[in-house]
Amino acid sequence: MSPVAIVWPCPLAVDAYVAAGRDVGFPRPSCPSCAGPLVFWSGYRRYVRAAGRSRKIFVPRLRCAPCGASHALLPAFTLAWRLDTAETVGVVVTQVAGGACGVRPAAERAGVPYTTARGWVRRFRAHGRELGVAFAALAVELGGAAVTPPAGAGRFALTAIGAAFAAAAGLPGWRRLGAWRFASAVTGGRLIAANTVSPWFVVGRRRFMPPIPP
Ligand SMILES: [Zn+2]
Repeated sequence: MSPVAIVWPCPLAVDAYVAAGRDVGFPRPSCPSCAGPLVFWSGYRRYVRAAGRSRKIFVPRLRCAPCGASHALLPAFTLAWRLDTAETVGVVVTQVAGGACGVRPAAERAGVPYTTARGWVRRFRAHGRELGVAFAALAVELGGAAVTPPAGAGRFALTAIGAAFAAAAGLPGWRRLGAWRFASAVTGGRLIAANTVSPWFVVGRRRFMPPIPP
């Protein structure tokens, strides 16, 4: 069975996470597949690029005895299968999809290759409507304001992520994470994944399954 990423709302700076190694205070969530108990079971190292510098981080694996699934426990500053942090990606898509500037200046400021940044923005816009609907539903679920979709899928997604985060920030622990770690955590790191965004939105111990348009 292939591992599924669980993204936990890690508040640590990347350097602090690197320095802590295996001694990060990892949470132990229940199995997202069957809600069974998970046990720590090895782990692996992967690269993360933050502020133009790549570092290796330790990612624990959790295994579920009842259903046999194994899950990688990613910190929320990462996105699944992406070298760059959620914040780096978030800043670029905010600037470009929000209309502040084109891809090239945003990529230069973020210290990432132009083609990489262009790929993020394309993916974000391609899934903008789904993301917008999902985050708008989450905002309401969390007691926030209803989102009036602005024109453009990318802007809709940005507005809805902002509304959902504003609502989540009223709950314990979320404000200090920032909008992009929040977005990574609730999408299971799949904010700009090749497949559509995971329907499983997880906030704390609660699980949200927002409607996804056909
Ligand atoms: Zn399980």
